[in-house]
Amino acid sequence: MVDDAGGFMRGCANLPGFVGSGPTGAGSWGWDFDGSYGDWYGGHELGHAYGRPHANFCGAEGGGSYPYSNGGISPSLSGDQAIYGFDIHSQEIYTADWSDVMSYCPNQWLSDFTYEALLAHFQNNPILTHSATPMDRLSIIGTIDPATNQVELAPLFIIPDADDIEPRTPGDYAIVLRNSTGVNWHAIRSHLTR
Ligand SMILES: [Zn+2]
Repeated sequence: MVDDAGGFMRGCANLPGFVGSGPTGAGSWGWDFDGSYGDWYGGHELGHAYGRPHANFCGAEGGGSYPYSNGGISPSLSGDQAIYGFDIHSQEIYTADWSDVMSYCPNQWLSDFTYEALLAHFQNNPILTHSATPMDRLSIIGTIDPATNQVELAPLFIIPDADDIEPRTPGDYAIVLRNSTGVNWHAIRSHLTR
């Protein structure tokens, strides 16, 4: 992500791929008032990296078929078929006339079409290595604010018979699993295997 203070650098990503780039800055583009447009712009480029083509609306070209008119997130704008966006963090609701993140339209959210295509991509392209022994592993996803060390964790899931992710690079933070009495899980495991 490149700060647009030095000029606007248009985004680009392989489809699919492992490299993408894009601009970021405080501009609202007339609809995003959270102080950064790097969120939806970055999401668009990540969508490409995960194999999603454009939804050909509002100037986006070269993409694939898209189910809803005007690049919207919903098959209809009202009634019981209408689909709304919901942000679980801000608890904001986005109306059915919002647009898919893979279009160039304003008011971007994720359509069910793009969401389910991404889900299928993740399921069909798991990150694998062939050196590790498949076993039950814990999927831990979260964020750390380096300024405050504030941690936000998503729900943890056990992934059965999963390979490991490589390489694991030691850093400034570690995840330590403890049992209900506070004993380090690793210590427990070491004890059990000795
Ligand atoms: Zn694009």
